[in-house]
Amino acid sequence: MSAGHSHSELGPARVEEVSDGVFAYIQPDGSWWINNMGFLTGKHHTVAIDASSTVARTQAFQQAIGKKTSIPVTTLVNTHHHGDHTNGNFLFEGATIVAHEDARRLIVEDGEEGIKRLQTAGIFVNPDGGPDWGDIKPAPPFLTFTDGVDVHVDDLRCEVRHPGTPAHTTNDSVIWLPERKVLFAGDLLFNGGTPFLLMGSVAGAIEAVESLRQYDAEVVVPGHGDVCTMAIVDDVLEYLAFVLDLAARGHAEGIAPLDLARQTDLGKFAELSDSERIVGNLHRAYAELGGANRGAPIDALAAIGDMVTYNGGKPLTCLA
Ligand SMILES: [Zn+2]
Repeated sequence: MSAGHSHSELGPARVEEVSDGVFAYIQPDGSWWINNMGFLTGKHHTVAIDASSTVARTQAFQQAIGKKTSIPVTTLVNTHHHGDHTNGNFLFEGATIVAHEDARRLIVEDGEEGIKRLQTAGIFVNPDGGPDWGDIKPAPPFLTFTDGVDVHVDDLRCEVRHPGTPAHTTNDSVIWLPERKVLFAGDLLFNGGTPFLLMGSVAGAIEAVESLRQYDAEVVVPGHGDVCTMAIVDDVLEYLAFVLDLAARGHAEGIAPLDLARQTDLGKFAELSDSERIVGNLHRAYAELGGANRGAPIDALAAIGDMVTYNGGKPLTCLA
């Protein structure tokens, strides 16, 4: 048994109606593998935004949807390929699963072995036991796009848009509801958690997050953390600029990402959850400073290994 933070302290997920028939599903505390979802209900359609990391969490989400509407989910939009947002895809039987084409490619390539490998690698551990992932079957998106697509919930237009650059991943999408001024930002925005760029691009994330200003959103549902406003854009950009600056100095001086992270005071960013992500973020920034393309594959396992080392050699805390 661990001291400190435990699963039982997390509190239940919350369903928040952020606009008429538009719901955010917020899972505390937004740390590793504990993502947000959303759903929109109409007379003829229910559209869900993202699944969750475990079977139990996805089923709890489905039950919450069932309390608001009797129309089954006909369309599931994935904001990106990461398992916390897609592991539960297969539970939405009969739904059309929509995402950027690279989300499909990566989920197909990863396959069932990839999911099992990550689950058994011992990288992510719940100090209370588990996580209990459940018997997850990969269910890749099968309606894919490159730039964007519109989904209509009855008359309500939902613009699913790729920011045009790798950022959090190579395949991020936001869902923008122009008539409601609601933005589902996926993992381009973390609220209270450390942004994570290992599988995307630091420079790209700065561009992508900056580009969110084109939406005059009144309500922002981040990929992790509480519902917020566009003020979060400034907070995230500040962290991204910090990473880029730090990386430029460390790279020029030939300091390895792990050593650089260890000798750096994160200042106010230390209060964000999962602060060990700084190491993965520096790995990505170094690759780009060395000429790698945005989103190019890098040795993610080595970077995650360094994150574990930074974390005192302990597995990363996953409360899912
Ligand atoms: Zn993610």
